[in-house]
Amino acid sequence: MNKKDICSYNYDELKEEMLAIGEKAFRSKQIYEWLHVKLADDFDEMTNLSKGLREKLKENYEIRKVKMIDHQISKVDPTEKFLFELEDGNMVESVLMKYNYGNSVCISSQAGCRMGCRFCASTIGGLVRSLETSEMLRQIYHIQKITEERISNVVVMGTGEPLDNYDNFIKFIHMLSDEHGLHISQRNITASTCGIVPNMRRLAEEGLQITLALSLHGSSQEKRKKLMPVANKYELSDVLDACDYYFDKTGRRITFEYSLVAGVNDQPDDIRELTAILKRRNCHLNLIPVNPIKERDFKKPDRKNALEFKNKLEKNGINVTIRRERGSDIDGACGQLRRRHAAKSEGETDENICND
Ligand code: SAH
Repeated sequence: MNKKDICSYNYDELKEEMLAIGEKAFRSKQIYEWLHVKLADDFDEMTNLSKGLREKLKENYEIRKVKMIDHQISKVDPTEKFLFELEDGNMVESVLMKYNYGNSVCISSQAGCRMGCRFCASTIGGLVRSLETSEMLRQIYHIQKITEERISNVVVMGTGEPLDNYDNFIKFIHMLSDEHGLHISQRNITASTCGIVPNMRRLAEEGLQITLALSLHGSSQEKRKKLMPVANKYELSDVLDACDYYFDKTGRRITFEYSLVAGVNDQPDDIRELTAILKRRNCHLNLIPVNPIKERDFKKPDRKNALEFKNKLEKNGINVTIRRERGSDIDGACGQLRRRHAAKSEGETDENICND
């Protein structure tokens, strides 16, 4: 019999589940606290439950593990990279970045990705599968346990497209910010999307306070198409309308991400077009000098050019920063660590890449 994934039950669902197996409601509260506050890995840790109940839980449920199989600590800045193996052997990576304001963890939402962005390592083997809610949560729990330091910020910017794993992702946000769990403020959570328009609109209506980051990468429909296959499906104007809708509904300023690729999207007309797009919006632009991956021939603009690009946008009144490079000595680019290990793993096919 397949055991149920107990960490994917939210507070109310766990209560219902425990009532259904004849337990009192306060038991579910205790179990939820063990799982989502004390971050237990095993039912045997739950010492305020009777042995009988612990056995019953073990028979019917499992705490799905994310097993750490690699841990790299940067020597150049306070950044650590983790490779986790899921119960079925798939691998995902997460990154811990320490800042003055707190500890931020970047998690993966899928094993692989089918969005096919040309410069991204995560998408090379296609999508293997979406992660369960518990598998997203437990990347954070594991890191908090190892470091023994509170995680205050979460970004969903690792491998995968969160809006391509919509239901599990939404549940993840609710459980992560739930007062019965780690209670991370939604305002300290950012999710990044390549621009799946219908789900951006749905997200706007969820009543959440998270920051939405939009991977723009091109200043026109044509340029986006060159870098992002998803642009064949959704027009840039519709993506921008969906951003405006998100801002109208939530009051949360959009972050636009723009991976700078030398000679491709760092030209004077890009500055002009970007200014036209962003000037009238209440937003922030984050430039990410592209992190070259060995499978693709994209080059990072040199520091001087990136700075010039930024300064010209700033002069045009755009609120812009260059993302500080982190952990450059530890497989910095999204998906690189996993790729090194996953080359051996099964289930990856190029057919899973969205090329329509
Ligand atoms: N699917 C989501 C999250 C993916 S990764 C999205 O597309 O937004 C988070 C950000 O890193 C995205 O903006 C992505 O385009 C960017 N990124 C991925 N690989 C990169 C690389 N090699 N160099 C620079 N940015 C990269």
